[in-house]
Amino acid sequence: MIYKSDIPDFDIPDLDIFTFLYHNNEYDQSPDKILSVQAENGASLTRAQIKDRVSRLAAGWKQTLGLGRGDVVAVFAPNQYDHVMLYLSLLATGCTITPGNPGYTESEFHHQVSNSGANALITVPELLPVLLKVCEQTGIQRDRIFVFGNQEADGILPFYSLIPKDGSRITEAPSGIVPSEDVAFICFSSGTTGKAKGVELTHRNFVGEIVTNVKFDPATFSDQDVLSAFLPFFHIYGLALCFNSFYRSSLMVVLKKFDLEVFLKCIQKYKVTIGSIVPPIAVILAKHPLVRQFDLSSLRILSSGAAPLGQEHIEAVNRVIPAVIRQGFGMTETTGGVIIQKSANIVPGSIGVLVANNQARIVDEQGNDVGPDQRGELLVRGVSVMKGYHNNPEANANTFTKDGWMRTGDVAVFRSDSKQFFIVDRMKELIKTNGFQVPPAELEALLLSNDKVADCAVVGVYSAKDATEYPRAYVVLQAGTPESEETAKEISGFVASRVVRYKRLGGGVRFIKAVPKSASGKILRKDIKQWIKEEESCK
Ligand code: AMP
Repeated sequence: MIYKSDIPDFDIPDLDIFTFLYHNNEYDQSPDKILSVQAENGASLTRAQIKDRVSRLAAGWKQTLGLGRGDVVAVFAPNQYDHVMLYLSLLATGCTITPGNPGYTESEFHHQVSNSGANALITVPELLPVLLKVCEQTGIQRDRIFVFGNQEADGILPFYSLIPKDGSRITEAPSGIVPSEDVAFICFSSGTTGKAKGVELTHRNFVGEIVTNVKFDPATFSDQDVLSAFLPFFHIYGLALCFNSFYRSSLMVVLKKFDLEVFLKCIQKYKVTIGSIVPPIAVILAKHPLVRQFDLSSLRILSSGAAPLGQEHIEAVNRVIPAVIRQGFGMTETTGGVIIQKSANIVPGSIGVLVANNQARIVDEQGNDVGPDQRGELLVRGVSVMKGYHNNPEANANTFTKDGWMRTGDVAVFRSDSKQFFIVDRMKELIKTNGFQVPPAELEALLLSNDKVADCAVVGVYSAKDATEYPRAYVVLQAGTPESEETAKEISGFVASRVVRYKRLGGGVRFIKAVPKSASGKILRKDIKQWIKEEESCK
């Protein structure tokens, strides 16, 4: 059975994302309205300032670097108030952006830069020591590296210095962009299996995402809304938020990262009406005594996504903040939210209903549709679904069915009573810690490079206290290595020094005699999950 949205399909403008956003005049277009403010220091940009800088900087990219279609530019930075300006200036040249986590280690940066084929890079001064090395290894010349801000650092120029002195501007995207083919962003996701892969999101994916999301639930979108944005602009959840906010002419209060006090102060000061969160933040909001010291009455909606949010956490937040808490389901591969709760019809535990221009199916292991109220893998198809994994035909063949449905790797049920979708399990390997992806295959490869590890498997263990999963390593030691606390600490430390913070083994290290595997050598993660269940039930 094919599930469709209740909302009739919209005509999606056949435009590139730059043209669509830069020349949009559907919402309040007053040029002096502030659209972006940095929470930490109050630096801000009005709509007119953003547009002015976008057009001049775009000309600078073109004149100095010759950026255009086919070029890929990597951006690694914590959220900045001028991030949206930077992204639009790059997109105006027709190039592709690959945004990545500024918390990465050298090898993680290297993987993204080389895999995406980036030939220019933008970052913040603090990351230059590691990123200059990565650029050297991957062949990006020093004069193609730039920093945010106004100061030169280590001889690397701020990107604003490229603004041409002769007043040149670019206000039209280059001709020839095919919105459904040209890739606007390559974001990284592990998909259903293996290491992080480049997800090709086209201009049409973004234009479609904005149109369908903004018009999905009119109660939640107005130019009078004020959004807070600590979700990273390199992850699809934050990236989509940043473009949606600009499109609607809402004020976006940008936080470099989540800091509870800064977050609460901003809500009070800027009268934030919509907050986008991930489940572990809900736990903090429900429990931290600081929350009660601020006036948060402006908050109408808290949108939660990236991982499941339990009803008990929703109720706990609502005891302190009486906002509507809305869940949504999305993936990097679906350009963000595709199944979202409507604020006027929230069914506890559901992820909501399909947004327009997208369809879903729920299938069994053989790929046959199961009926309503039955579990199966969720498949999606439509305007939001990625073009494919970058240079990876094998992953694409495994992810898409012959008739174009994309496998999510999530187990869902469509309930006939509420007519809403529920995520009930995850069949793919992926672990999600604080809303971020932890691909087990990546940690397993790393662990196997340790002399003391003979074999291993990494799985997620859920912590109800923190409303998140943490990666746990099940390790078979090399003969002669003692199964001691010291060895466990050494292995945890080995991983911690080589990966971004959230990929550390927060779920601990367990020693086993053999990793359960199928006849073909595949790790039987279900068996390990069963051990975890048994361990939990003995507590
Ligand atoms: P990412 O590409 O990092 O956004 O991760 C996408 C994955 O996060 C999905 O395939 C799900 O496994 C999980 N996910 C996202 N939103 C939800 C949700 N509301 N409930 C349960 N799982 C979710």
